[in-house]
Amino acid sequence: RHNSEGDGNFLEDETTKNFARKVADHYSARSNQTLEEREASPIIHLKKLNNWIKSVLIQLYARRGDAVLDLACGKGGDLIKWDKAKIGYYVGIDIAEGSIKDCRTRYNGDADHHQRRKKFSFPARLLCGDCYEVRLDKVLADDAPFDICSCQFALHYSWSTEARARRALANVSALLRPGGIFIGTMPDANVIIKKLREAEGLTFGNSVYWIRFDEEYSDKKFKASDPFGIKYTFHLEDAVDCPEWIVPFHVFKSLAEEYDFELVFAKNSHEFVHEYMKRPEYVELMRRLGALGDGNQDQGTLSADEWDAAYMYMSFVLRKRGQPDKN
Ligand code: SAM
Repeated sequence: RHNSEGDGNFLEDETTKNFARKVADHYSARSNQTLEEREASPIIHLKKLNNWIKSVLIQLYARRGDAVLDLACGKGGDLIKWDKAKIGYYVGIDIAEGSIKDCRTRYNGDADHHQRRKKFSFPARLLCGDCYEVRLDKVLADDAPFDICSCQFALHYSWSTEARARRALANVSALLRPGGIFIGTMPDANVIIKKLREAEGLTFGNSVYWIRFDEEYSDKKFKASDPFGIKYTFHLEDAVDCPEWIVPFHVFKSLAEEYDFELVFAKNSHEFVHEYMKRPEYVELMRRLGALGDGNQDQGTLSADEWDAAYMYMSFVLRKRGQPDKN
């Protein structure tokens, strides 16, 4: 097993699609915010809610000592969540060089950072690369098998072509042990398509986000025979401005089955909040994160527009078929 030092960049520009580069450049260019800037963000409560959702998923499925694969790990915003779950090993990969650099800084302890915290208790390997293009089973042959794989707010970037969507699932499937868990959060295609059909034109949104489909979708119909490459532009205030792709959930589920996954559950974020806020430990977690209201409504401290933006996402849990080894 490796540590975070000395890993090169295995991103090959000639094999990387232009859009993947656009996505990578977008995320790479996003600089770290100060605590003050973060708290002043128009979507601060949405960010807190999304952190709560990721924490709940991790607490539900991570076990002490687990080997974790974090696909599209970004700046390493989930490192602390994994540390709390007392994992044993972490591999994070992201296509954005700038984000991986920030992630390394965070893992190694940032001297300038306000929060001086103890070092993470698990060894980590942090890599820059395109998770939906590269054969990760080859790159991570020495690190596998993993107990759990997480892909948060990023799997939809694999849905630009069938080959990439398949590569994403094949990578995760090849690297997880039998019975291993794949958790993730991504846009909820059903909600997006419903909102598109209700909209007057091809653009809809509110004060914190907008989504725009190209003219080619002016009839608002999508061919069942071609569920890949359905592109839209997504703008989330203070966060994202990117080409993204629809992930029709039923296609995702059946493709995942081809790669030996069975669905444990899939829930829209609104439903997720409603369900897990019934558990006192997660209510307490929400309170600590600062996204809890008076307890009378799921929306908590989110503005109505943030709550509406939260509705655009769903979380999923898949389990790799087979029985774990007995030891
Ligand atoms: N998972 C992190 C989190 O929850 O904080 C980051 C989420 S951010 C919305 C999406 C991330 O996906 C970005 O860091 C971006 O660089 C990464 N990404 C997009 N396409 C990717 C690809 N093909 N391979 C690896 N990472 C990718």
